[in-house]
Amino acid sequence: MDIKDKVIVITGAGGGLGRAMALQLAKQGAKLALVDLGNDALQVTLDQVVALDANAKTYNADVSNETSVESTFSQIAEDFNGIDGLINNAGILRDGLLLKAKDGDVVSKMSLEQFQSVIDVNLTGVFLCGREAALQMIKYKRQGVIINMSSVARQGNMGQTNYSASKAGVVAMTVTWARELGRYGIRVGAIAPGVIRTAMTDAMKPEMRERLEKMKPVGRLGTPEEIAHTAKYIFENDFFTGRVIEIDGGLAM
Ligand code: NAP
Repeated sequence: MDIKDKVIVITGAGGGLGRAMALQLAKQGAKLALVDLGNDALQVTLDQVVALDANAKTYNADVSNETSVESTFSQIAEDFNGIDGLINNAGILRDGLLLKAKDGDVVSKMSLEQFQSVIDVNLTGVFLCGREAALQMIKYKRQGVIINMSSVARQGNMGQTNYSASKAGVVAMTVTWARELGRYGIRVGAIAPGVIRTAMTDAMKPEMRERLEKMKPVGRLGTPEEIAHTAKYIFENDFFTGRVIEIDGGLAM
């Protein structure tokens, strides 16, 4: 796909990775539909891409709410006369151990609410946005591309029962959709980042960050721009579908 003039939707566009991907695509001449919960950060992303001369609009939507997602994608398609691409990027963390015991007694457990809230955004949200984006691509006869954000935690990670399950599910949906939607000319790929330098990792204790950096052969955390570069690759490479790219500096968890 030639990114220039293509209409690309990014969910969670106010966040660290969403913004970096919006800036990368704006530089390539994409038209951007920026979706988020309606926070100030979304406006910052809009200002930055408009400064690069991008044609962009913001949309406030909760990706886990079916009505909200259906009306947002149909509005985007109407505003831009179709949809060519989606980055299913909105995601949350609610980390905690499955169970915690002290002296033989269980003192805490991951609540159903803690589990479900992550599944609602990271898995159901990806399902709803992917479905609605594909619907609009077929309706407007576009050979589109869907990119789902997974994580290296998809293989299972301490304290992330909810997150790991959601990110593994995202990869399963990626393969399924690549098979189902290929007949309409739609490609689907996933990106599984390792630990990326964002506001979240900047707030870590220096010794914790140092430990994480030492776990990687490249000896540092990734940058949001390196993830954006991976998204650009998936959009542009027409032979890529049904696969997940692990971009983690060689991190072994
Ligand atoms: P982030 O900075 O927290 O950004 C996520 C964005 O999604 C935020 O703007 C957030 O809004 C928004 N969001 C949350 N719930 C939403 C909902 N229900 N509907 C619409 N928008 C919602 O996260 P990030 O670090 O950029 O990560 C982006 C994606 O990459 C996530 O899927 C994450 O799991 C994945 N990932 C990140 C890393 C990393 O190291 N950063 C590593 C692996 C995978 P609020 O701020 O208002 O909640």
